[in-house]
Amino acid sequence: MDGTCFFCGSKNEELASLLSEVKSKMQENENIIGLNDIDNQLLRIKHIEEVDNYLKRKHYYKLFEGKENDLINRIKNSQSLTLDEEDIKLVQLLSTSSLNPDNRMAFGLYTILCNYAGKYKYDKLDFTETVKSLFIDLMKKYTNSPRLVISDIKSKNCGEVLGLQSFLKGKKSNVSTITISQSEIDLLYIGESIMPLQTFFHEYFHLIQESSLIETGVMNRYALNEIEDFVLSKMLPREKYYESNYDSVSFENDAQVVSIMNVLDLLKRYSVPLKENDSRQMSTDFLYANSKLDGTQVRTYEGRQYVLDDLFDNFMKSTDKAKEIMDKYPQLRSIYVEVEGKYHRKPKETVDSILDYFEKEGKKANIDGLNKYTEEIEGRRAN
Ligand SMILES: [Zn+2]
Repeated sequence: MDGTCFFCGSKNEELASLLSEVKSKMQENENIIGLNDIDNQLLRIKHIEEVDNYLKRKHYYKLFEGKENDLINRIKNSQSLTLDEEDIKLVQLLSTSSLNPDNRMAFGLYTILCNYAGKYKYDKLDFTETVKSLFIDLMKKYTNSPRLVISDIKSKNCGEVLGLQSFLKGKKSNVSTITISQSEIDLLYIGESIMPLQTFFHEYFHLIQESSLIETGVMNRYALNEIEDFVLSKMLPREKYYESNYDSVSFENDAQVVSIMNVLDLLKRYSVPLKENDSRQMSTDFLYANSKLDGTQVRTYEGRQYVLDDLFDNFMKSTDKAKEIMDKYPQLRSIYVEVEGKYHRKPKETVDSILDYFEKEGKKANIDGLNKYTEEIEGRRAN
């Protein structure tokens, strides 16, 4: 362990070129909600450096006394350790609760990458515990009430915030749940694929989407599509909307794009080669999701096709929850006008001009600014 990267630093051309392709796509889409947020969080794994330094301090041997007696004795007798034994030492040390959450997270990510790179094989139970604690630590960055459910059902992965439903029932509870199947964790343990980590990031991103839409009031074309898709997915029967449009709904495609990006970034950071199967899968998934984010947003409902905005307008006219929905997502206030208790979308040119404004202002724009701007341009038009 020389303190830089735990891996050999091998360069993987395939990964490099996929990453640069993805990077340029992302630059085109920098307004996708929360990209910077999640990026900032995950980039903190530079803490691995600190962990490494920590390892070098003499007193660390004490931390695993009694756990690996044989190893300890040999260290005490100043016998040199094999590389494998050094690894065991590392694992023993880092598995302790002595780490602060950031270092613990760094270690969790590191553990997953090690398994993927075939560098170490940890005990399966230790591995599972480490991964679970990583996931919980990441969730704590976004919610005070994280709930991680490990499911036995193979395809049952989801990230859910009880936002809209509990809001409409007058509740403030905001428990965030991520359900991830045991088989995904097992796959990470085997180390054949890194896709289960992307699955977790995908679900994790769903929590961030909801909180960034509501708390920071982010607004742009993507945000508006997300709000419309969120509301329709929650309010219309699940099989009629969400399930029939799973490939198209914007919050799913945003989550795909961002989660793939994060996994690739992580691999690159530690020079871990991307395996061929994963590379193929990720390029396909990324390009597909990315292609769905722009252009006309078409959705299917009860066997018919609609433009998302039109379907949402119809919904707002027919639901008795329109006012509550407007309160929940104040961004909608700039898009709709109320006429005798019914909500109508403003003319297309007004909406486009509002979205242009937010596109330009980026993250600085907030709801207050939006209201002011809306008044301004409408005032100008009226005069
Ligand atoms: Zn999803």
